[in-house]
Amino acid sequence: MMQFRDLKKQYSILKAEMDAAVLEAMASGAYIMGPQVKELEAKLAGYVGVKHCLTCANGTDALTLALKAWGIGPGDAVFVPDFTFFSSAEVIALEGATPVFVDVCEDTFNIDAADLEKAVLQVREEGKLKPRVVIAVDLFGLPANYPAIREVADKYGLLVLEDGAQGFGGGIEGRRACSFGDISTTSFFPAKPLGCYGDGGAVFTDNDEWAALIESYRVHGKGAFKYDNVRIGLNSRLDTVQAAVLLVKLKAFREYELDAVNKVAALYSELFCHSERSEESVATPVIPEGFGSSWAQYTIRLRDRQQRDAVQAVLKAAGIPAMVYYPKPMHLQTAFKPVLPSEAKDLCPVATSLCERVLSLPMHPYMTEEEIVTVAEAVLNSVQ
Ligand SMILES: *Cc1c(COP(=O)(O)O)cnc(C)c1O
Repeated sequence: MMQFRDLKKQYSILKAEMDAAVLEAMASGAYIMGPQVKELEAKLAGYVGVKHCLTCANGTDALTLALKAWGIGPGDAVFVPDFTFFSSAEVIALEGATPVFVDVCEDTFNIDAADLEKAVLQVREEGKLKPRVVIAVDLFGLPANYPAIREVADKYGLLVLEDGAQGFGGGIEGRRACSFGDISTTSFFPAKPLGCYGDGGAVFTDNDEWAALIESYRVHGKGAFKYDNVRIGLNSRLDTVQAAVLLVKLKAFREYELDAVNKVAALYSELFCHSERSEESVATPVIPEGFGSSWAQYTIRLRDRQQRDAVQAVLKAAGIPAMVYYPKPMHLQTAFKPVLPSEAKDLCPVATSLCERVLSLPMHPYMTEEEIVTVAEAVLNSVQ
């Protein structure tokens, strides 16, 4: 059976280097904050092009650390796309602030800057919450439209938090993802573009003051030293073993994996676009001019829920795993019911419709041409 993201194949290729790196970390005895953690942080900051990189326990904590550094809490409105993984919005409520869901663009899946402005104006008019932050998500590997988001953010005094959990490796006009926010974050969950062998995450910023606060928050709000605690924080560090894993994977990512996923995506799109059969029903991912994706997912749009579910079933029967990211928009999540007005069920029509029509196909740097063709043909044969 074909793999959706073949991490075992990746391991088999990196095995010699990976085993040596992990064994070295285990033999060293420096399991927490070992030298590999600092080395990784320096390499990640250099790759992304920001001054500070602080690793942490996972991508959700990375977002939480950013909100804590900014003192976001009760009475604050934080704008977030309605079409994303739960974490992006969860962290807002966890800090006691109020998530405000914003619709996304049909073609890029990312937050719609025009709808963001509408949502900010509505919050201001209601006068109950203070607009503070927009969390823009680089969904499926494509950076959000930061030039447009920045314009709205500047106009209304919002801080920009880039959720680059899926975006690491993408870019806009030569600038890399995880450098677009006032603070940016990523995740090293195994299936992300750059993943470790467990949980991990990182925060990026050019701002010295926020970096110092995050450094404190990630180790129990430490002050001058670990047992001097000046604020309530988290225990959110990246393990030395995971840093060792990531150093090996970052090298492969830079040298060939990012190119490889772009080739997979290009072949998929060519097969779908050149097929006469697909014209009406298979919409391929759109990468705007000047943008680059890290292809966390290759996500097609079908006509409606019925067709999407049928295609997924046909693929499954053929031994091809295809996933629905995401089946439910944020504003319909049960957990957010208490924080939403009752008329909220009609919010964000684009996100709601995408949840019914999207399907993510197998995507990873080690896919063979034969596998890509097999998937594309199975999709094309099933959309009739
Ligand atoms: C995976 C993911 C996160 C959370 O990362 P974890 O490391 O799993 O905590 C946050 N936002 C988005 C968009 C994600 O895809």
